[in-house]
Amino acid sequence: MKAQDISREKSTELFEKAKNYFPGGVNSPVRAFKSVYGTPLFIERGDKAHIWDADGNEFVDFCCSWGPLILGHNTPEIREAVQSQLGKGLSFGAPTALENQLADLIIKNNSFIEKIRFVSSGTEAVMSAIRLARGYTKRDKIVKFEGCYHGHSDSLLVKAGSGLVTFGETSSSGVPKSFADETIVIALNDRQALEKVFNDFKNQIAAVIIEGIPANNGLLIQDKEYIQFLRDITNKNGSLLIFDEVITGFRLGFEGAAKYYDIQPDILTYGKIIGGGMPVGAYGASNEVMSNISPDGNVYQAGTLSGNPVAMAAGIAALSILSKPNFYTNLEKTTQNFVNELRQFIAENNLELQIFTIGSIFWFAFTSEKKVQRADQIDPASMEKYKIMHRELLNRGIYFGPSGYEVGFISAAHTSEDLEKALNAIKESLLITFG
Ligand SMILES: *Cc1c(COP(=O)(O)O)cnc(C)c1O
Repeated sequence: MKAQDISREKSTELFEKAKNYFPGGVNSPVRAFKSVYGTPLFIERGDKAHIWDADGNEFVDFCCSWGPLILGHNTPEIREAVQSQLGKGLSFGAPTALENQLADLIIKNNSFIEKIRFVSSGTEAVMSAIRLARGYTKRDKIVKFEGCYHGHSDSLLVKAGSGLVTFGETSSSGVPKSFADETIVIALNDRQALEKVFNDFKNQIAAVIIEGIPANNGLLIQDKEYIQFLRDITNKNGSLLIFDEVITGFRLGFEGAAKYYDIQPDILTYGKIIGGGMPVGAYGASNEVMSNISPDGNVYQAGTLSGNPVAMAAGIAALSILSKPNFYTNLEKTTQNFVNELRQFIAENNLELQIFTIGSIFWFAFTSEKKVQRADQIDPASMEKYKIMHRELLNRGIYFGPSGYEVGFISAAHTSEDLEKALNAIKESLLITFG
């Protein structure tokens, strides 16, 4: 059954206006709907797992602002915390007790960091972590993996060239080649490439950075043995291991992917969920490593709005709920049931599709491969299928991120009715996608 196309009159009008103001009409590129059909929906409001666009269309939301909204939209506790802070001022550029409170909540519940520094985005957190690693080791080169996203700082907008071990090529114009030369990009899950890196660049590698669970280019779940190998080879070579937990932090529990693997990284970065929907990032490490950050140490890092009181209040309210017993196990159970029902449908209909999942994250992979752990295992042509599915889902009141490389998130606000509605819509949409 083909569903009727939703009305996009107001959204289209707003998008046309926005194009006069912003490059591509947006303030972050993926929002432009370039990889799916149609033009962006302009969202007016959200409540629990639902969002409403400018034309009054209602959707069950699985994008959740790209991850931060693990409690859904308009969570009363967060809203009230923000509202009560609003009456006291928006920013002071001086310390507040709220920063202590959020840090205490995090450090008490996370055995992988002893000290933390708040910033205002994931990009900023990772950029600072890289500087810290370089300052601490007095080395310049870093290693990143093809298929991991770490925000848009210069050192990390770099993609692999051809060959096992290559200096990165800039993946954005405006990034100096000399920056890219300090970043080595290799494939995930390839031990040989990593051994070669440490052979070729003895005593030059400051850090290896990996997403806790790579979830920005599909969901590329790594084996624990490989992450242990990463830990061992960095230790042996005096390099730091950075887990970028901007997605996985507070998503796979308070201790994120570090706990999932039970491996201690040297620096961890956070973002998204940590601010309860407000712009907050953070990086943390041992007391010893963090003592290199200014004003204690010589690695400079600062921020006019860092530790912003309104954002801190939102983070405290969010994390207080997440720290309650069974929050994560319940959410994971809900996600498992949802994914299992879809997997059963996929098997019954013999569809060339896998659903990968961890915690409350899931990803549709249009492939017959049972394990996808490297970026080059994803066939760009398979994204055509996602495009169709995405259009059909919007027409059935289900909102996913506008790119097949993006994962979906289930929040604690998704009710069984929301999920039932989504299951039916996904099943119908898949039959059309493969039809
Ligand atoms: C989203 C993300 C970032 C960038 O965070 P921003 O807040 O968008 O700057 C960095 N690393 C990972 C793993 C992310 O998912």
